[in-house]
Amino acid sequence: MTDLAQGLRLRDDFPGVGDWHYLDSAATAQKPNAVIDAIARAYGPDYATVHRGVYERSANMTLAYEAARRKVASFIGAKSDSEIVYVRGATEGINLVAQCWAGTQLKAGDRILLSTLEHHSNIVPWQIVAEKVGAHIDVVPLTDDGRIDLDAMRAMITPRHRMVALAHVSNVLGSVLDCRRSADIAHMVGAKILIDGCQAVPRLAVDVAALDCDFYVFSAHKLYGPTGIGVLWGRAELLDAMPPYQGGGSMIDKVTFEKTTYAPAPTRFEAGTPHITGVVGLSAAIDYVQGIGLDAIHAHECALVAKARTALEQINSVRVFGPDDSAGILSFEVEGVHPHDVGTILDETGVAIRAGHHCAQPLMRHLGVEATARASFGIYSDDSDVDALVKGIERVRKIFG
Ligand code: PMP
Repeated sequence: MTDLAQGLRLRDDFPGVGDWHYLDSAATAQKPNAVIDAIARAYGPDYATVHRGVYERSANMTLAYEAARRKVASFIGAKSDSEIVYVRGATEGINLVAQCWAGTQLKAGDRILLSTLEHHSNIVPWQIVAEKVGAHIDVVPLTDDGRIDLDAMRAMITPRHRMVALAHVSNVLGSVLDCRRSADIAHMVGAKILIDGCQAVPRLAVDVAALDCDFYVFSAHKLYGPTGIGVLWGRAELLDAMPPYQGGGSMIDKVTFEKTTYAPAPTRFEAGTPHITGVVGLSAAIDYVQGIGLDAIHAHECALVAKARTALEQINSVRVFGPDDSAGILSFEVEGVHPHDVGTILDETGVAIRAGHHCAQPLMRHLGVEATARASFGIYSDDSDVDALVKGIERVRKIFG
């Protein structure tokens, strides 16, 4: 048992878990009562709009909304809360940078560097902008054990590369990127680097200053917070130079029919009434994970993944993907059984995994499979989940002979 597993206590914090073996936290994490209660209060007795109200409750909600921005900034090591842009999620954060930074800075013939293991959210927005401006996309290959190959990246990067966008933690393989080294390589040729932190923020302590990246994005719903809210962090000087993403209320300085001027960042990027209760929920989620500590969470998930990996590797006909030190996420296949069948049989035994291409079709092609089965862990996971997973896989093998 790991320290946190004494933490069955934690399981009780999550009404969505109970005695279910929920192994799909990489898709979305279950929510602790602290988050659910905070959202209920924000929609209930505390509910009011932000930024505009002249009455006390709105002023209080505005204080909470902006205090959450400061909390996010300190949670990820940002210099200032004005570098924190609230977005709908990682997908919107990447699209915002693709359109507002790359869409205005890149010229025909410029190049964008991605990797084989990227989520579609970190591929398609760049393809859209590349097509618009006439830029090209290059792809950094993986090492044999499933990491982004930074030696290969160093060899292939050129001064024509203006943007590098890489996942901090792979949503399929759990491999962890050496962000600092990838940033150093990008900066060597003057490129900017965006890190997709969707799978990292819930399981690793993140400090954007130490990583030395230029943009960092994540979604609250994978961090035990609500859906529909996420964060884009960008260096102040980059955000300040970027045009607005969407036009509307709140993002302006002055509007006339002749000319409109815009508010400074981050307000310029937050058109319309924001996801007020989402921000309150994100704030509660950060408090919750900080109360446990990301180093403890990381150690806990690593111990569970290691146990699951060892057990699955001992089963004949199971192939496990990804490096030995994968963070919280384990993909595998059972020879001769479609991952959807694996998922369905596991579901019958109360084990929820994900089966499919995980929005990473280029990676599936690289692995030579159509899909994988994926077990992913969270702070409420414990040894009983691993045991149920392994038992379920034995059952799959029995059923399929
Ligand atoms: N990147 C990675 C690595 C992810 O795992 C995900 C979610 N599966 C995303 C981006 C997109 O996140 P969202 O759908 O919350 O915008």
